[in-house]
Amino acid sequence: MLTERYRIMTAPLAALATRISGRVVTTSEPDWDSVRTGFNLTTDVRPHAVVLPAHAADVVQVVEHARAHGLRIAAQATGHNNGAHRDLTDALLVDVRDLREITIDADARRVRVGAGVRWQDVVPALSDLGLAALHGSSPLVGIAGYSLGGGMGWLARKYGLQTNSVTALEVVTADARLRRVDPQNEPDLFWALRGGNGNFGVVTGIEFEVYAVSDLYAGALFFPADSAQLVLRRWFGLAPRLPEEMMTWTSLIHFPDDPEVPGELRGRPFTVFHCAYLGDAQTGADLLRPIRDLGPVLDTFATVPPAVLADMAMDPPAPLPYLSTTALVDRITPQALDDLLDAVGPDSGSPLSLVQIRQLGGALGRQAPGAGARATIPGSYSVLALGVVAEAGDEGPVASYLARLDDALRPYRVGEYPNFVEQPGDASRFFTPQTWERLRAVKTAYDPGDLFQGNHHVPPLPHEQAVNE
Ligand SMILES: Cc1cc2nc3c(=O)[nH]c(=O)nc-3n(C[C@H](O)[C@H](O)[C@H](O)COP(=O)(O)OP(=O)(O)OC[C@H]3O[C@@H](n4cnc5c(N)ncnc54)[C@H](O)[C@@H]3O)c2cc1C
Repeated sequence: MLTERYRIMTAPLAALATRISGRVVTTSEPDWDSVRTGFNLTTDVRPHAVVLPAHAADVVQVVEHARAHGLRIAAQATGHNNGAHRDLTDALLVDVRDLREITIDADARRVRVGAGVRWQDVVPALSDLGLAALHGSSPLVGIAGYSLGGGMGWLARKYGLQTNSVTALEVVTADARLRRVDPQNEPDLFWALRGGNGNFGVVTGIEFEVYAVSDLYAGALFFPADSAQLVLRRWFGLAPRLPEEMMTWTSLIHFPDDPEVPGELRGRPFTVFHCAYLGDAQTGADLLRPIRDLGPVLDTFATVPPAVLADMAMDPPAPLPYLSTTALVDRITPQALDDLLDAVGPDSGSPLSLVQIRQLGGALGRQAPGAGARATIPGSYSVLALGVVAEAGDEGPVASYLARLDDALRPYRVGEYPNFVEQPGDASRFFTPQTWERLRAVKTAYDPGDLFQGNHHVPPLPHEQAVNE
C-alpha cells in the first residue's frame, strides 16, 4: 500500500520510490527547492523530479524507470556546474550526494570514492598519509564532476588534469547495467567519460591515483589592489621561466564584508599572488624573489602539508548568486594587460569579486599516454572572473563588466575550459573535431537514445550516419 508521501507523487514516480532505498523528491516535497539548488544561486534547475540514490542498485532502477517512461537523466554530485544544463523538465536529476564511501590504499597510492564525495572529505586524510590528490581551488567541489570534466588544480603543471589520473570508473549505462570501466575493460567508454562528463551514464564510483607529497612550499602574497599593473607585469615576465613543479596564479580579489573573512582582508580589494611549489622553501623563495621584491602587505608562504592547498584560494565557503565568464588565452601582451586592467582593473569601477589568472603549460599541455577525451588544455593562461549579484534583477553591472573582460581578451582567446563554463552552449567547441566525432561515436554506441544529459551535452550521431559507420 502506498504511504501518504507517495500519494502526492504521480503513480510512476511513487512506484519508483518504492523500488529504491534512496529518495525521490518531487515539486510537492518541502525540501524540493533546497534539493534542486546547486552552488550558483542564480541557476534555477527544474527537473521532472530529483532522485537521491542510496547505492548503485538504485541507479539501475532509475535508468529502467526513465527508459520505461520516456524521461531523460541528468547526473550531478554537488550542482557546482548545473547552470550549463539545457532544459531538464523531461529529466530525472540523479543526485549522487549520498554515495559517500572512501577507501584509501596508501601503499598503492590509489583512492576509491563514491561519486558523491567532495574533495574536502578526502584531502585531509590523504595529507596525513603524505599523499596529495589533484584537486582544485574549492574543497566543496565534487570529485565526480571535477574529474569527468577535466580537473585543473594546484599540481596540474606537474601531474596534469585529474581526469587523466582516474584509473577506473563504475558507471550505470543506458542499458541499466552497472559496469566497471578502465583501460582494459571498455576502453572507449573509459576514454569518453574522462572529459565527456555525464553524457554516457551515471557514475557511482571513481578510482584515482594520488601522489607522494609530504609537504610543499605554498602560500599567498597580498598586494594593494592598485599594484595590479606592477604585479601582473612582473608575473607575466617571470611565469614562462618557472618550473613545472611550480603553479602560480594572480588574482584581483575583492573580499566580501563578511565576518568569516579575516579582519585585515574583509571588505577590501587586493592583488593576490598564489603559488604551490613541489620543492623546498629556499629554492621556491629564490624563484619567487622578483614578485616578493614588490613588497607585499601580507605574506603567508610556508612549508605546509598538502591539506593546506584545499582552501588556499579562499573560494566562497557557501553557495552564492553570481555570474561568471572564462577564457583560455595563448599570451597576455603588455597591450592585453592594459586592456584587461582598463576593463576590470582597480580603477575601472568593476563590481567583480574575482578576476583569477592561472598559469597553464607543463603537463597541462602534453598528451599523456592513455589520456581521456580531455587530454590537455590549450593556452598559456586560464582566466576566470565572477561577480556576485546581490539582488535578483541587478545582473546588469556585473554582466557588463564581464562583457568588457571578454572584449579585452578576445584577440588572445584560444578556447574555454569546460569546467569553468556555467552557461548552456555548443559543447563541440571544447574539443578538436576528431575528439568530438569520437565522443559522439562512443555516445552512439552506449547511449543512442540520448538518455543521459551531461551539463555540456554530447549528442549521439544522427541515425543514418551511425548506421553507416
Ligand atoms: C567555487 C568553484 C571553484 C572551482 N575550482 C575549480 C578548480 O580549481 N579547477 C577546476 O578544474 N574546476 C574548478 N571548478 C569547476 C568545477 O570543476 C566544475 O564546476 C565541476 O563540474 C564541478 O563538479 P561537481 O560534481 O561539484 O558539480 P556538478 O554540477 O554536480 O557536476 C557537474 C557535471 O558533472 C557531471 N557529473 C557529476 N556527477 C556525475 C555522476 N555521478 N555521473 C555522471 N556525471 C556526473 C554532470 O555532467 C554534471 O552536470 C570550480 C567551481 C566552483 C564553483
